[in-house]
Amino acid sequence: MNLGSTVLPQRPAWVEIDLSALRRNLQLIRRDLPPHVRLLAVVKDEAYGHGALDVAKIALEEGAACLGVSTLEEAMTLRDAGIQAPLLLLGERQESELPWCVAYDLTVCVNEETIVHKLARVAAGFSKRAPVHVKVNTGMSRYGVRWDEAQPLLELIAAEPSLHLEGLMTHYAQSDETEKTFALAQTANFDAVVAAARARSITVPMHHLCNSGGFLDLPQSHRDMVRVGILIYGIFPSSVCRRIAGIEPVMSVKARVATLQQIKPGEHVGYGMRYTAETPRRIAVLPIGYGDGFPRVRNQGFALLHGRRAPIVGGIAMDALMVDVTDIPEAQMWDEAVLMGRQGEDQITAQDMAKLKNSVTYDVLTGWRLRLGRKCVNGDVAGMEGK
Ligand SMILES: *Cc1c(COP(=O)(O)O)cnc(C)c1O
Repeated sequence: MNLGSTVLPQRPAWVEIDLSALRRNLQLIRRDLPPHVRLLAVVKDEAYGHGALDVAKIALEEGAACLGVSTLEEAMTLRDAGIQAPLLLLGERQESELPWCVAYDLTVCVNEETIVHKLARVAAGFSKRAPVHVKVNTGMSRYGVRWDEAQPLLELIAAEPSLHLEGLMTHYAQSDETEKTFALAQTANFDAVVAAARARSITVPMHHLCNSGGFLDLPQSHRDMVRVGILIYGIFPSSVCRRIAGIEPVMSVKARVATLQQIKPGEHVGYGMRYTAETPRRIAVLPIGYGDGFPRVRNQGFALLHGRRAPIVGGIAMDALMVDVTDIPEAQMWDEAVLMGRQGEDQITAQDMAKLKNSVTYDVLTGWRLRLGRKCVNGDVAGMEGK
C-alpha cells in the first residue's frame, strides 16, 4: 500500500483567495491615482492573511512601486523568494536587525538619533548608502519623531554620507470618517516639518501620508506616494469613505458539510447544551471552529448553503460549528458552505464577521489561522508553485 499521492489531501475547510479580484482591485486603485503618485502595497501580516508572496507579485505586476511590511522576517521572506522591489519596513527596528536591513537593501524607518548613528555605521561597514524614511508623529502618538522636534533628526541624517534621506512620512489616526478635522491638523503639522526642513535646505524626495482612508478621502495628501493596505483586499476602511465601483473582497472562508444529524424536540446541540430544538431539526456540522479563527459565538451568525442562510446553533467548538439546515432540504454531505464571502445571491461580509467578533475588518482578515490553509483561485501567480 502506498499513499497514491505525495500531496496531502486538502482539509474540508479553507481560506479562498480570488486572485482575479485582487488584480482588479489593484488596477482600479492604480487607475484612480494620478500617474505621478506611487503606490506602496502594504503586505504586512501575510498580506492581511491573503498570502504575502502571492499578493506582492501581483501588486508589483499591477504597478505598485514598492511594498510595506512590518517585521524583518516578513521582509526577508519576500527577499528570499526573489522580490527585488523596494521594501519599506514600517515600525521600529532593534539594533540587532540593522545589519540585515542593510545587507538585504531594506528601507528602514528611523525616528530617533541613536538608531541613526548605528545605521550609519552599519551602512558604512557594508559600503552602502542606506535609504531611510523618517516617520513624523503628527498626532497619533504611535511611532515617529514629534513634528515639533523633527528638525535636528533630519539634519543629522542629511549629514550622514552613508544614509540617504529618501522619505518623510506620517500616519493618520482617523482618515476614513466623515469628520476630517484631526486628519487636516495632522497634515498641517506634517507640512510645517516639510517647510522648516526646506528652510534649512533639506529636501526629501518622497513624502507620504495616506493609508487606504487617506487615499480615498484626502486627495490633497497623496503627495508622492500612498500606502494602501485593506482596500487592495477589497474592503473599504469604513462605511462612510468614498467608494470606487468594482472593488470586491478577495478573501472567502469555506467548509464542507462533514456530518448531518436529525434531532428531535427537546434535544440539544453542542457544549453546554446552549441550543434546544423545539421542533424536529436537521443539523449540519462544518469542520471549522474557533481554533481556525471563527469567533466564539453561540446561536449567532450563519453560514451560506445552496445560496441560503443556515443559522449557527449552539456554541462554536475548537474544530467544528453546527448550522440548522432544516429549511435547506437539498443540503448533503460534503456540500460547500460559505462562512465569509458570497454564495449565489447572498453574502456574508467581513463587516458582518467583525460584528460577530466585536472587532474590525482588519482583525477579521488577519484572524483566520494558518491551519485552515489558503487556496488561490482564478489565476496564477508567475513563478509560483501550487501552495
Ligand atoms: C498598516 C499600515 C498602512 C495600511 O493601512 P490600511 O488602512 O490597511 O490601508 C499604511 N501605513 C502604515 C504606516 C501602516 O502601518
